[in-house]
Amino acid sequence: MTGFAVKGWCPGALRPMASGDGLVLRIRARNGRLTPDQARLIAGLSARHGNGLMDLTSRANLQLRGLDPAGHAASVAALDGIGLIDDSPESEARRNVILSPFAPMGGAAWQLAEAIARAMTTPDAPQVPNKFGFAVDASPPVLADTPSDIRLHPHGPGWLILPDGGDWALEADNAAEAAARAVALARWFMQGGVQEGRGRMRDHLRRAPAPPSGAAPLASSLLSKYPCDRAAGTAGATSPSPGPAPNGWLLGFAFGQITPQQLTAAAAIGALRLTPWRALLIEGASHPRIEGAILDPDDPLLRSHACTGAPGCPQALADVRALARSLAPRLAPGQSLHVSGCAKGCAHRGAASVTLVATAPDRFDLIRGGGTRDPAAQCGLAPHRIPL
Ligand code: SF4
Repeated sequence: MTGFAVKGWCPGALRPMASGDGLVLRIRARNGRLTPDQARLIAGLSARHGNGLMDLTSRANLQLRGLDPAGHAASVAALDGIGLIDDSPESEARRNVILSPFAPMGGAAWQLAEAIARAMTTPDAPQVPNKFGFAVDASPPVLADTPSDIRLHPHGPGWLILPDGGDWALEADNAAEAAARAVALARWFMQGGVQEGRGRMRDHLRRAPAPPSGAAPLASSLLSKYPCDRAAGTAGATSPSPGPAPNGWLLGFAFGQITPQQLTAAAAIGALRLTPWRALLIEGASHPRIEGAILDPDDPLLRSHACTGAPGCPQALADVRALARSLAPRLAPGQSLHVSGCAKGCAHRGAASVTLVATAPDRFDLIRGGGTRDPAAQCGLAPHRIPL
């Protein structure tokens, strides 16, 4: 299996990451929502200062790519003017909260996500590792497969607070209490969950620490609804499909890649919600037409994952998106595909029906029903010999 560098942090706006195609600037929109004006301005920044390619990420963020240092500085200044920049790179990194894109604005889930973000950016907030994050679900639940260290689900009149990888939960009667308990759980994690500045909740729970006070075993009915191993994902696991959503219309984009033209066209229809499924939700829309967007829920590209790959990522050994595009039409119904430029597997954390890991520009290891780090069934396959 190919080696790869683990950076242990994610880019932000104030702390961009150098990639093969320039700097990557990640915008963490508050509660994942962009107004039409914000979206239009971001599209302009991508066209003017970036390389005209943006990523919809699995953390429900939007990334500009291909910036140089001057373009980055100009973009940060412009984003600051529309309220999309934090006070410091540290608070930006800790404000790592995914809200269900279907959550009504101003509702309980919305307020809860805001309260967690606020608490995590105060000076005395727990100094969680860079990738540590929260997910706040709403009704109907849609974030069960979205990896997060602490997950909050509406439960009866209150909330359940679940640590990733645990079989116990905390309960809260209202959003304010749930936010306080979630942040307290992050503090509990900090007592032993971080080593050399890194750590994730599921790894901490494997060491079987005593649960915090108030934790109660999760009833078996809830365990099946919110399985312990939420980070693993499943082969063929489905995300909400393109089409009507409770608050608008969901559009798919191959590999989550979106252009300034597409973003501008979407903003002309309504406000936008970023989703952890690398899709875009247009609030209040009905049958929107955006050139190049995926509208068909059966489009095999929706079941195809591919990272940035070559030449955009310096660690990539192949142009994986081109290969994924060429293989997608051969996928059987329900079959999923993941093509990765190296074993790190940035595009898809879980299993796929077929996973291909580049070992050279035109050679791939094939894993069936697993992820990039699982044993390969076949090694060194040329693209034309890949069986699906
Ligand atoms: S998985 Fe892809 S994007 Fe991630 S480091 Fe490897 S080549 Fe780069």
